[in-house]
Amino acid sequence: MRALMLLLAVLSLNAQKTVFLITDAEGVGGVCRQDQTDPKDAEMRQLLTGEINAAVEGFLAGGATEVIVWDGHDGSQTLSTLTIHPKARLVMGGLPASMLMERRFAAVAYVGQHSKADIKSGIMAHSYSSLGIQTMKLNGKAVGEIDVIAAMAGHFGTPVIMLSGDRAAADELREIVPGATMAVVKEGISRYTCISLSAPSARELIRDSARKSMELVGKIKPYVVPGPCTLEIEYTTRNSLPLEAEHRPGAEVLGDRTIRFRGKDVLEVWQRYRAR
Ligand SMILES: [Zn+2]
Repeated sequence: MRALMLLLAVLSLNAQKTVFLITDAEGVGGVCRQDQTDPKDAEMRQLLTGEINAAVEGFLAGGATEVIVWDGHDGSQTLSTLTIHPKARLVMGGLPASMLMERRFAAVAYVGQHSKADIKSGIMAHSYSSLGIQTMKLNGKAVGEIDVIAAMAGHFGTPVIMLSGDRAAADELREIVPGATMAVVKEGISRYTCISLSAPSARELIRDSARKSMELVGKIKPYVVPGPCTLEIEYTTRNSLPLEAEHRPGAEVLGDRTIRFRGKDVLEVWQRYRAR
């Protein structure tokens, strides 16, 4: 009886295909200037929400049973349950260090994603903070949100299946997850100059990409960064390290602006960095 219950639980777990959608503003089609990234910018909210809802439609059409959307841009104050796809659920507020990946979603995807800091032709490229962080390195490799999120998902056995954003962001994910579906909605000429698709075309492309990416669930491998891990943060000059920085667990101060954390895996190192 117990074995049967367990089998049923496993089967129902498999039947549940939840996609966790990470969202940001800088990689949305039609968003190319810093002033547009204000969370209260009405046009940006419409453009972002339109792309998210297109992705949700695509995932559901492709076999997802549920899509959970995280409002990931600047303080989680951009999206509204009034305008989000009726069948999606919205995560409002900051995520814990695990990024909720312990829920072991069927897949993770990005909408509105930008590239890491210091990437040529990356529109508004940055790694977590444009003003505060110069460079972020995971196991010695320069990373931004794309790598860190993919690695956290991978730590819990969840694969990344799709990204929409600018060309630089797609190239960045392709390096670590070559099989993921990419929807490139704009091409960067420089940090603040881009060639963008129209909103209707961007949405169509995203809907289609999201639907197709569901075929990857169960086939594509999670992106796993082997432990032990180091995470090195080089802050900008306007964000030097506080006096007691070297006393933080697993931390080693490398200079006035640079600190390195050690941890047994990506989760621990990210927890140590975030424990402020
Ligand atoms: Zn971002």
